Amino acid sequence: MTSLTLQGAPVLVVGAGIMGAGIAQVAAAAGHRVMLFDTRDGAAASARERLAATLDGLVAKGKLAAGQAQATLARIEPIAALQQASGARLVVEAIVEDLAAKRTLLRQLEAVVDADAVLATNTSSISVTALAAGLAQPQRLVGMHFFNPVPLMKLVEVVSGLHTHPDVAAAIFDLAKAWGKVPVHARSTPGFIVNRIARPYYAEALALLHEQVATPQMLDACLRAAGFRMGPCELMDLIGHDTNFAVTNSVYEANFYDKRYMPSLVQRELVDGGLLGRKTGRGFYRYPEGAPALPVALHEAPATARALTVHGGDAVADFLEQAATAALAPQGWGPRRESGSGWTGLAVDGLHLVLTDGRPAYAWAAAHGQADVAVFDRPLMLPAAPGTALAYAVADSASESGRTQAPAWLAALGFTPLAVADTPGLVVARTVAMLINEAADAVRQGVCTPEGADAAMKLGVNYPAGPFEWLARWSVPGVAGVIDALDALYRGERYRLSPGLRQRARALP
Ligand code: NAD
Repeated sequence: MTSLTLQGAPVLVVGAGIMGAGIAQVAAAAGHRVMLFDTRDGAAASARERLAATLDGLVAKGKLAAGQAQATLARIEPIAALQQASGARLVVEAIVEDLAAKRTLLRQLEAVVDADAVLATNTSSISVTALAAGLAQPQRLVGMHFFNPVPLMKLVEVVSGLHTHPDVAAAIFDLAKAWGKVPVHARSTPGFIVNRIARPYYAEALALLHEQVATPQMLDACLRAAGFRMGPCELMDLIGHDTNFAVTNSVYEANFYDKRYMPSLVQRELVDGGLLGRKTGRGFYRYPEGAPALPVALHEAPATARALTVHGGDAVADFLEQAATAALAPQGWGPRRESGSGWTGLAVDGLHLVLTDGRPAYAWAAAHGQADVAVFDRPLMLPAAPGTALAYAVADSASESGRTQAPAWLAALGFTPLAVADTPGLVVARTVAMLINEAADAVRQGVCTPEGADAAMKLGVNYPAGPFEWLARWSVPGVAGVIDALDALYRGERYRLSPGLRQRARALP
């Protein structure tokens, strides 16, 4: 197969559920004739009726021209039997997520469509290589993984299995672009790109809850402050704990029970108890109320300082210097700056307020021979907006005054300090380091490119930045430090640094 093009090709969509209906809409809107088939009686016709109502709504709101809506709808033809689709040059299947059902369908399709037709699967978790096994022409099967809701979500993962011909993947890539999507190539591996790299977003929150480090509201507040549209707990409540748990389990099993992907007892208990989230009225939170507001803690102004030094040479230290300058201005003096001390944070009289390098506060205190130590989380969005929620933890060696002065100083610098248990990497640094690590492994294993990972995470799950963009703003040794600190404490396989990052961390000074 060479220079295969699917522009303008007649399309068959099999499965007229949530995804199939959306795929049919997008293909028809791009000018393709679309046949829609579902084994459930009347399902294809009613999907078309629902689409007619949606398009009418868009026309009424002035978002779509009436002629365009009519033309889109006119291109969609529900069919009663697969045999009627013999003219299709592209088939996109979006039937039930079941290997046997999909294999049976694909074999039937080979008997219906021409030998040069492309077969695409919208599977979100089944191996494209496994689906192709046993086909007469396995090289023409490719993953075309859309995200829900299909008309709105820009990302399409173009998934190649071992058999997939590069021209077939290239043709689907070009077609997705022509449909207004942003395609990203992925190799068929468990979870593809998005469902794999996103695992730590949930897993680290669940691990922190398991160890009672913080409440769900606190975790959500910290990660929202880091730029995520939803915190992990409210997001799992929205997705449904049954669905989220099933995806985690499938990635875990598919990776031969690699501890990195181990599901959580916390989530298992929610599932077992029927506390599935929004859809059952209760998950981490109760619905329709949702998350209760965090109690507002009032922090007194810090005690008048005699000396304040900002340590560090990075962007966080620059921000701290600005904030400390503003905080000290009424007293008529400003902070000193020391860039080469090997850590980032503030030394205010005897208190050391330290940006987490991964080590818990107690370990940092012991290593530096200091008692009054608190570590604070990584502010991911700089300059931090006033009131940005930020987790911090106080070393158990800290004095009473250290315990009150740490949050007082964080508040004086403009943050909303949230006290969490003393744990490696706190909340944001730990979560983001693990997201970066997972992405680094995915790239090392040839699943996608760094640019592909960034685009996929921003467009597939609305992350505020891609993992490699975070890495560029942070540093390889910084990320490695957080993961190594987690590994040092937990001593397992879960927090192992991607070999690629290890190599780069060593190569740097
Ligand atoms: P759905 O249950 O809404 O729709 C599936 C449809 O397929 C149903 O109408 C069913 O009657 C039909 N069907 C089942 N077996 C069939 C067969 N042999 N031939 C023809 N029709 C058949 O499911 P969905 O959420 O649209 O998911 C469909 C596929 O898309 C799955 O593979 C799923 O993993 C994948 N996916 C889903 C999402 C999502 O968020 N829902 C996102 C990405 C990918």
